[in-house]
Amino acid sequence: MALVVQKYGGTSVGTIERIRNVARRVARTYDDGNDVIVVVSAMAGETNKLVALANEMCEFPSEREYDVLVSTGEQVSIALLAMCLQSMGYKAKSYCGFQIPVVTDSSFSKARIEKIDDKKIREDLKNGTIIVVAGFQGIDHEGNITTLGRGGSDTSAVAVAAGLKADVCEIFTDVDGIYTTDPRIVPEASKMDKVSYDEMLEMASLGSKVLQIRSVEFAKKYGVVVHVRSSFNDNPGTLVMKEDADMEAVLVSGITYNKDEAKISVFRVPDKPGIASQIFSPLSHANITVDMIIQNVSHEGFTDLTFTVPKADYKKAIKIVEETAKDVGASGVKGDESIAKVSIVGVGMRSHSGVASKMFQTLAQEGINIHMISTSEIKISCIIDSKYTELAVRVLHEAFGLAKKDIKAE
Ligand code: ADP
Ligand code: ASP
Ligand code: MG
Repeated sequence: MALVVQKYGGTSVGTIERIRNVARRVARTYDDGNDVIVVVSAMAGETNKLVALANEMCEFPSEREYDVLVSTGEQVSIALLAMCLQSMGYKAKSYCGFQIPVVTDSSFSKARIEKIDDKKIREDLKNGTIIVVAGFQGIDHEGNITTLGRGGSDTSAVAVAAGLKADVCEIFTDVDGIYTTDPRIVPEASKMDKVSYDEMLEMASLGSKVLQIRSVEFAKKYGVVVHVRSSFNDNPGTLVMKEDADMEAVLVSGITYNKDEAKISVFRVPDKPGIASQIFSPLSHANITVDMIIQNVSHEGFTDLTFTVPKADYKKAIKIVEETAKDVGASGVKGDESIAKVSIVGVGMRSHSGVASKMFQTLAQEGINIHMISTSEIKISCIIDSKYTELAVRVLHEAFGLAKKDIKAE
């Protein structure tokens, strides 16, 4: 008998009929003799609706109340799935995050899981109950409801799998696995049989929403092999696991894009020690993560500074930066929300040169201007105008020979 954790995303539980489909799959796994814990997301679109309601109510909603609101979508889907399993004759019980509890820190809307109490779950499993857990939510040490950031049910599932030492962790979604790029933009994208934790971390952090980044961090830390697959068929999906020799052989394994960042430039900043800290500390105190940063070459003692922040924090960030800019004597601040980041990722890039120039050349051939560049050992990212995102992804996918037919031909 194995302990199986299965996570079903929003599209997979998007309608009553789809919840019935999920219940049938869960029941099958149980009937095969396994203990089953199911983690579910809110029904498709529900979290977006809740976020819109909060923004309609006020410009800067209280972070605590925001989490109270947006966590509710999952409460609906766990109850419906548990009801469905019960009506099929199975013992099933739903749990909200606070009931387990899934203990997190207090960073509302991006809380980190610290501990999962397994006592109640273990007792229920012992008497043959199927456990249905609300993804995305937790509770902090003061008893406040918290949420784990968009896409956070993936992290709930991997954390449950790690915490209870599950034998299998399956993430069921609306595509057959992890592809060389988003298959909705490039239908020729190839499904990967396996991908290393490090590559998946880069892909997730660079915008590939198929797994939330923290779920991959958890999986890597606790050695959980994550199987990403479709909830609509039985095809084998993609294993996210430790790097092996086959993976190193591939130069570029994927292309990602992210339209969720915005760019902020601060002009004519006095170029002296401590300035960067003066500009970035207030942002970090406000819990805003800054991603790419470029500082221009100094000219007559002044420089320009450009950086990116999550779009969700953009309004807050601009307000903060405008104040600091005044304090440090900069000449002005300008924001741009119509940008996108396209990136190429691959562990094989560590030992090859020429990848960056091929990327720049490919974008140049389409007349796509690059605003910012950043690199790491296994990725290169470019900020471009967001209207070119799909085009950039398509031409890069082609240039690096990632389409199904290209890979087969090799
Ligand atoms: P769920 O609701 O199941 O959590 P998500 O919408 O969060 O599903 O993630 C699945 C989606 O991720 C797919 O529908 C696909 O459009 C997108 N996606 C982006 N990049 C990739 C990729 N490299 N491989 C597979 N899917 C990707
Ligand atoms: N429902 C949450 C969201 O839409 C969490 C998730 O689906 O993973 O972000
Ligand atoms: Mg998701």
